[in-house]
Amino acid sequence: MASNEFRVIIVGAGPVGLYVAHSLSAANIPFVVLEQQPSVVNYFGAMVFTWPHTVRLLDQIGLYEAAKGVSVPIHAKKRVFGGDGSVLTTSNFWEHMHQNHGYPFLPILRSDVVKILYESLPNKDACVKTNAEVVDIGLYADEVHVHLKDGSVHKGSIVIGADGVHSKTRTIMQRLARDSEAAAAGESPMVSTFYGIVARAPNDFGLEEGVFFESRGGDAAIQCTVTGGMLNYATLKRLPETVRGRRKYAAAEMEEYAKSLSDVWVGPGVKFSDVWARTDKALARMLNQEEGFVDRWSYDRIVLLGDAVHKMTSINGLGLTCGLHSAAALANELQGLVAAHGANPSVGRLAEAFARYRESRRGEARQIFTRGFTMIREVTRKSWANWFWDSYVLPWIDTEAIGRGLFVSLMVIRSGQVLAYVPFEGKHGAVPWLRRAGGEP
Ligand SMILES: Cc1cc2nc3c(=O)[nH]c(=O)nc-3n(C[C@H](O)[C@H](O)[C@H](O)COP(=O)(O)OP(=O)(O)OC[C@H]3O[C@@H](n4cnc5c(N)ncnc54)[C@H](O)[C@@H]3O)c2cc1C
Repeated sequence: MASNEFRVIIVGAGPVGLYVAHSLSAANIPFVVLEQQPSVVNYFGAMVFTWPHTVRLLDQIGLYEAAKGVSVPIHAKKRVFGGDGSVLTTSNFWEHMHQNHGYPFLPILRSDVVKILYESLPNKDACVKTNAEVVDIGLYADEVHVHLKDGSVHKGSIVIGADGVHSKTRTIMQRLARDSEAAAAGESPMVSTFYGIVARAPNDFGLEEGVFFESRGGDAAIQCTVTGGMLNYATLKRLPETVRGRRKYAAAEMEEYAKSLSDVWVGPGVKFSDVWARTDKALARMLNQEEGFVDRWSYDRIVLLGDAVHKMTSINGLGLTCGLHSAAALANELQGLVAAHGANPSVGRLAEAFARYRESRRGEARQIFTRGFTMIREVTRKSWANWFWDSYVLPWIDTEAIGRGLFVSLMVIRSGQVLAYVPFEGKHGAVPWLRRAGGEP
């Protein structure tokens, strides 16, 4: 039955689901967000780097000051690859990026990104439902029905699956689309080859504040942000064998894993065994870091976003950024669709809009995915090439900052998405933005 309003059902109140909710709110498109957890804001200690073009997206929805407020101050990136734990390079990359684009890199806890997005969402008490686990989706001529575990049903015009790497929406969509036997049987396209610990420890070692340390040793890589007297770190190491699907680890397995990294340097004079000894084990998590790039992004009235569709390890720090820019691209399409065709666009029109969304994001997302895929394998590989690079090239050249970081500015940041329908002046640096919103100079 045709409705008098175009209503969107968003599955997942992670950062990507909440950002798309803000974007729809700005377009006056009604929506509901369904989150399986009992509360939206949960502590999860991963420190995520919001890149300048992502900070611009947050600025456009009025969250620049809030993001700065929860970010941690950081001024340098140091690589600790030396066999004795010494610093091999100190990079000014972030400073250049700020000058190039008018926005800084902001390191923020994932839980704080969620918090600022959730708390600022207009009418959030009515629009966000918790304890709302999606278990099935039914497609009908004019609407979609989303079934929850408690037996209730939400009806809408489309459903957006922003429910993360183990997306139930994706599994249901693949079953309905019947692209392949594996998809119809619900096999996950996400595969884990690497796993690691995400945790924090007090900085009892006197490591320099405001520094992001990156190190490698053996077959592992460690990334650690030192700020406010704490070390927030993530480790990555190759799994004994590739795993598909979810895997939980017991405390004893985490201890065993930590032991295997004992001799890897985290910062100058500090080994992983020292850090692990002081780590808050109650908050530490060991997780598989899946990788996967889904070919089908939509079917009928279902469309996917974020980690549900393109998932990489944390090595290049771009998973969230990729998800938010995909969300902005999808929101632009939906706003245009409703403006042009009203509350009941046909499935054919929806398919065209979803195809344009995928087309506008697939190239860049694939490039970032492929680079991350190669990078994690390079940094965790014991090889002569790595040894030569670490010993003779890095001590002399800050490869990232060459040409004031222009390569990254031109290839990744300047083409960032923007909500085309939200008037905005924004900030500008030496490298002009390729996409501009209404009102932007
Ligand atoms: C250690 C680490 C460091 C990282 N560092 C960076 C970084 O520096 N920069 C960066 O850009 N990215 C980084 N990332 C990646 C980033 O955290 C993810 O890409 C991002 O969180 C994905 O957001 P999402 O909203 O798509 O999915 P998620 O964050 O996974 O959120 C999905 C939500 O959906 C809910 N959900 C799931 N299933 C259902 C269901 N059936 N019904 C209802 N709700 C459901 C979940 O409970 C969850 O709230 C890092 C990741 C890790 C692990």
